[in-house]
Amino acid sequence: WRSRVEDYRGQETVTPDGEEVTLSVNLGSSQEIDSACTAGACSVGLYRSEFLFLGSSRIPSEETQFQAYRKAAKAFSRGFVIIRTLDVGGDKQVASIPAAREDNPFLGNRGIRLCLARPELFLPQLRAILRASAFGSVKLMLPLVGGVPELEEALEMIEVARQELVRERIPFDPGMEIGITVEVPSAVWMADALAQRVDFFSIGTNDLTQYLLAADRLNGDVSRYYRIYDPAVFLAIRQVVEAARRHRRWVGVCGELGGDPLAIPALIGLGVRELSMLPWQLAEATWLVRTTPLQEAALLADSVLASVSHGDIRALLDERYRLKS
Ligand code: PEP
Ligand code: MG
Repeated sequence: WRSRVEDYRGQETVTPDGEEVTLSVNLGSSQEIDSACTAGACSVGLYRSEFLFLGSSRIPSEETQFQAYRKAAKAFSRGFVIIRTLDVGGDKQVASIPAAREDNPFLGNRGIRLCLARPELFLPQLRAILRASAFGSVKLMLPLVGGVPELEEALEMIEVARQELVRERIPFDPGMEIGITVEVPSAVWMADALAQRVDFFSIGTNDLTQYLLAADRLNGDVSRYYRIYDPAVFLAIRQVVEAARRHRRWVGVCGELGGDPLAIPALIGLGVRELSMLPWQLAEATWLVRTTPLQEAALLADSVLASVSHGDIRALLDERYRLKS
């Protein structure tokens, strides 16, 4: 069966009834570009831009960032590259951006919050991403958006970057898509208002699970409360998809659930149409997409949403996977 799954690598990712589900990869270093291409990836669903900041004691310049983003845009010219703006703070610290000590770093100055507090850091990155958009299909994603106020602030900064580039006659794609990572529970509730202001949502299930269940994703003592198949997580995903549909926006998943073979059929059934994962997960995900009719996926999603516990959902997903493989 394993070798059968390998045969699916590189095949078109459509369901038996013809619905396209885009499979993309998460990139956390520049070396990973090569392994992702070798694994047959066409697109990048999550380019973790912080890795450019990690290896160095200095903040990478606009030019250095531009070259890195352009390289990715060219490497994935068959598809798209979603570049997530700097997502440090919380668990991720970089030497060049000293952080204040915080009692609750996961509730603190991280993600978009830190970028809005540091325009001298944010603006060059926005310019670099915009400039790269002239060389391929680049999309920009803002992490940790919890509501309309910080989204609008960030959109204003993007507008400033655009106007600067126009004045300097530097090319960029004026239609570059802008999206947010949905990973703060308030964004689930505000999804309608947020969808009116962006082009897409990518659900960050790692943080969303942590915040929905109030269980630190890194604290082993509470790992049994960090329930990746909790019904609340699936209900949240459903709510986000429904809001996005009302505004004709697309929804992806870039957290670890997106590459989880148990979860993939249910996510498709919930209406997710892009899944971002690790390169080695692509072949099995392709097999799952190509062998899951939409109606079957929808029925599975209904059963998941009707369940009341992580254990029940796990059993349901396990059983389906066992029958398929
Ligand atoms: C997430 O939170 O699900 C996510 C994709 O981002 P990270 O794991 O980098 O926080
Ligand atoms: Mg996150």
